[in-house]
Amino acid sequence: MRISAIRARLAALGALPLHQERVLRDWVQGAAHERGRRPASDFLPKPVRAALPALDAELAALVRLVSRHPAADGSERLLLALGDGQMVETVLLPRDGVCVSSQVGCAVGCRFCMTGRDGLLRQVTSGEIVAQVVLARARRPVKKVVFMGMGEPSHNLDNVMEAIELLGTEAGIAHKNLVFSTVGDLRAFERLAEARVRPALALSLHSTRAALRAELLPRAPQLEPRDLAEHGERYARLSGYPVQYQWTLLEGVNDGPEELDGIVELLRGKYAILNMIPYNTVPELAYRRPSWERARDIAAGLRARGVLTTLRDSAGQEVDGGCGQLRARAQPARRI
Ligand code: SF4
Repeated sequence: MRISAIRARLAALGALPLHQERVLRDWVQGAAHERGRRPASDFLPKPVRAALPALDAELAALVRLVSRHPAADGSERLLLALGDGQMVETVLLPRDGVCVSSQVGCAVGCRFCMTGRDGLLRQVTSGEIVAQVVLARARRPVKKVVFMGMGEPSHNLDNVMEAIELLGTEAGIAHKNLVFSTVGDLRAFERLAEARVRPALALSLHSTRAALRAELLPRAPQLEPRDLAEHGERYARLSGYPVQYQWTLLEGVNDGPEELDGIVELLRGKYAILNMIPYNTVPELAYRRPSWERARDIAAGLRARGVLTTLRDSAGQEVDGGCGQLRARAQPARRI
């Protein structure tokens, strides 16, 4: 179910835009919103009031919790079933964040990612994206939503942008706390620049060498890292938020001196942050995680050379936490 379809249904029942917003706001703000507020039923046209119980039941059924996997770092991985039985992963992050999935599977096929191994199975609708946030909110406060779960958001732009608009207008989430994460796609840069709600941008870089990047991200648009950084810089200046460059640190692959020189050349002086995340080793894949000490030295070296660099673990990495692992185990690839 898409947000636009919900609006159309409400409009057909006589709901004006302010009525539609009220119904959607009550949904995305969850139980907390009800405290001390006039019930929506007092305010809405009668046919809309009559339809609300059925609509609420449909919205509640968009995602269903299958299993939860808490980790020592305060994060919690959730395996969720969609209405048709397909599954996605959502991660409750420490410090009031949630990481949502935008596709079942993914067409980019990054070599180090379990999600990419099955290709794209289907798009996640805007309703299902927002439902992940609603489910997260029922468990803990959510002030930040990152689109870094399963899928490539720029391959599902209509749904992702619809979800971002609702989250940025009715869910009380600051626009800079909505993070659109992409391997880089010209269509995405265009849409983000025009959007009513402009999220922060995360770009998956992983290498400054075009040939290695193409090998690691085989079906990402073949943008030169330099062009990618130029698009990123333009959007950062437009939105007012620095670009978050993502770098999965793979031992012996993208952690050598040549790469670090490339990072300094590409990012020094840019309105950008480099987020380094040591790879979470997955038994099924060939890549290895560098030691934490080595990763710390690399990050410190980059900082000393003028690149704002953070180092962090992927949330919940001790509980089969690499993107797509829970789903891969619970549900081997099933195309519909
Ligand atoms: Fe897709 Fe992201 Fe996995 Fe790459 S890392 S295959 S873009 S889900």
